[in-house]
Amino acid sequence: MKAFVYQGKGLKVLEDRPKPELQEPGDAIVKMVKTTICGTDLHILKGDVETCEPGRILGHEGVGIIDSVGAGVTAFHPGDRVLISCVSACGKCEYCRRGMYSHCTTGGWILGNEIDGTQAEYVRTPHADTSLYPIPEGADEEAYVMLSDILPTGYECGVCNGKVAPGSTVAIVGSGPIGLSALLTAQFYSPAQIIMVDIDDARLEVAKQFGATTIVNNSDGKAAETIMKLTQQRGVDTAMEAVGIPLTFELCQDIIAPGGTIANIGVHGKKVDLHLERLWSQNISITTRLVDTVSTPMLLSSVQSKKVDPVQLVTHRFKLDQIIEAYEVFENAAKTKAIKVIIEVA
Ligand SMILES: [Zn+2]
Ligand SMILES: [Zn+2]
Repeated sequence: MKAFVYQGKGLKVLEDRPKPELQEPGDAIVKMVKTTICGTDLHILKGDVETCEPGRILGHEGVGIIDSVGAGVTAFHPGDRVLISCVSACGKCEYCRRGMYSHCTTGGWILGNEIDGTQAEYVRTPHADTSLYPIPEGADEEAYVMLSDILPTGYECGVCNGKVAPGSTVAIVGSGPIGLSALLTAQFYSPAQIIMVDIDDARLEVAKQFGATTIVNNSDGKAAETIMKLTQQRGVDTAMEAVGIPLTFELCQDIIAPGGTIANIGVHGKKVDLHLERLWSQNISITTRLVDTVSTPMLLSSVQSKKVDPVQLVTHRFKLDQIIEAYEVFENAAKTKAIKVIIEVA
């Protein structure tokens, strides 16, 4: 089968690989239909993710059709259409029982990281009963691909942890796929104001179409000033960090209102200063989280009933043969205006 393989720093290769086989009774082999590329895949290609070794098939998102299941799988059968969660969960370990699937002792984010992933014609998915979700026949598969990772990540790490509430003021720093997913799902709670911050006008324009009440371009480094003015010097109740660099996390600290919550979503590779000399008396909370995908069943219902339409995030479509080109388009998002690229496998 064809597969996209990380072969070391900066080395992207489309290779021929043997079709994966069942290894554990809880495994399923899924024939991929559609997958996508994540910002995390770009981190891997830069050599930032130590757990992912050269030779790994990348990808942790997608929808497909069950090809075969192990003897222990009871919830799925060959031919079933499924959503693959970016997080594999056994459902039995201490962390899974507490709803922290991302810390599952035999799962978590392993697909396209510690084991081969979804950017291929077939993938082996461990703990299939508790890591796959059925999707209805005839459903818009592209919308569901957004449910593997980015929608639950924006919702759980940003909206839930950030305690977005009716009438509240929200700032989302970063208008990429994750920031936009947080923007879409924050609207479940009808906040009074959602301010989107980025340095790319095209992405901010998209944010406006997706329901941002105000957009702020921080190319001049004055976003904090602008946001304080917009909120009568009060600041925002929720500040979500959806980039993963020191500058954007510091911005969240500059705009948080007394009693507010800074919800970190970004993947940070560098240390960031925490300004306790200012914040110690401000009754604020800071949250961190790896997506647990516990909200996936709720998000599936919301997509099915069209309460949220994540297909708006899809800007480009490619075949698996063209995946190298798809990576180039996704990497150069400022120029290509890419948000999410769909890879059609079958
Ligand atoms: Zn991802
Ligand atoms: Zn577990």
